[in-house]
Amino acid sequence: MGDLLKEEDLDHWRKTHNSSEISPAIGDREVVIMGWVSSVRDHGNIQFIILKDMAGETQVTAKKSEVGEQLFAMIKEVKEHSSICVKGKVRPQEKAPNGVEVVPTEIRAFSIAQKAAPFMTQGKTSPVGIDTRLDLRAVDLRRNYLGSVFRIRQTVLNSIREFLSRQQFMEVSTPKMIATATEGGAALFPIFYYDREAFLAQSPQLYKEQLTMAFENVFEIGPIFRAEPSRTNRHLSEATSIDVERAFADYNDVMSLLERMIVNIVDSIKERNKADLQFLEISIPALELPFPKYTYSDLIDKLQEAGERIQWGDDISPQALKSLSDERMNGFYFIVDWPASAKPFYVKPSSADPKISESFDLMFGPLEMSSGSTRINRKDQLVERMQKQGLKPESFDYHLRVFDYGMPPHAGFGMGLERLLMALVKIENIRDATFYPRDIDRLAP
Ligand code: ATP
Ligand code: MG
Repeated sequence: MGDLLKEEDLDHWRKTHNSSEISPAIGDREVVIMGWVSSVRDHGNIQFIILKDMAGETQVTAKKSEVGEQLFAMIKEVKEHSSICVKGKVRPQEKAPNGVEVVPTEIRAFSIAQKAAPFMTQGKTSPVGIDTRLDLRAVDLRRNYLGSVFRIRQTVLNSIREFLSRQQFMEVSTPKMIATATEGGAALFPIFYYDREAFLAQSPQLYKEQLTMAFENVFEIGPIFRAEPSRTNRHLSEATSIDVERAFADYNDVMSLLERMIVNIVDSIKERNKADLQFLEISIPALELPFPKYTYSDLIDKLQEAGERIQWGDDISPQALKSLSDERMNGFYFIVDWPASAKPFYVKPSSADPKISESFDLMFGPLEMSSGSTRINRKDQLVERMQKQGLKPESFDYHLRVFDYGMPPHAGFGMGLERLLMALVKIENIRDATFYPRDIDRLAP
């Protein structure tokens, strides 16, 4: 191996263009491009480098006869994954990305890759297991596949913010270090908070409800922390929740809001991520409003007819749902009117039949996307529900006290961003829908 190519600093060098900006329209101007090397091909007297940056890729074409012996020899030393800079002239080339190639006049290596990555960055599938990739996640994220996934994630987030802002929702932030559990249960991470025990928030539930007192319509996009004991492909210990809460509304109103939000997201992806959808070979089918609705009780009947051993009051597992052959259940649909006993204390029981609640889950096939409901806005009712579920009202004093000052009727939902991405982009394992997944076995990187 030669040592012509040496690592150098950035110094005064700056990009003149991103790869997406390099087109035949530039003419034969000189450009400076920077990125990482996604592939090198050496054909003897001609070498090709594909340089990737945040916007795409550029082909760098070096013919010995054009670039001279010295530069040609340097380019021979360029290794995949290195961080480099190329100065050169743009020339039309039909077969290259964007219809151009760059003929180098100078090359500068910022950081030369010391090792070959254990996986390729092209292609949609990876021959190595997910753990190998996750151990080297930042390199893994250079894969074209994940690039498309996370560009779509960005569209999802932007589209949600745009949509909810148009509907006059205020984006809020609530504490992630909290004193008591939101919903009881054991799925909490205890932490040290000075000299006391505290917990990582499993949901912004109670805070977002409180904030409807002052702002009516609020949403938060933030982390939720859950000590999930089981290893599944749909649970993370740290997930991103899209939480929405609206005053003067019930569960039907927020279901309608949620389905319109989903349609808006899908439209935005179709418009802004054409190349990503094409690369992923995904066509998102047109969605029809309203989404189908099934009552919990009807589904239990159907499941029993299909031979599932399930009782009224049980949770409905993804496995059970797979036993139903209803085409409308392949896409988005709601399961509504869950047993009150199966839902957290703040969920409002139906006034007509207190055994059931004004609640819904948004599903995509067998996968739960979101849970929502009309909430209880009267203190005595809330205390009663807490007691029924074995929770101590005293430990929720900080929450209950604001109910003395006019809590509006309200409703809302929480939706998992990674789950939504799994549905939209057909991701099998939720770990690939987040940058640095956390699960029972993984706390690094
Ligand atoms: P599941 O039954 O699938 O475990 P859940 O009913 O316990 O979910 P909720 O408390 O209803 O979850 O949370 C609202 C939404 O947040 C869920 O519908 C899901 O999209 C997402 N979510 C909840 N827990 C997780 C998790 N551990 N990892 C990823 N997303 C999650
Ligand atoms: Mg749920």
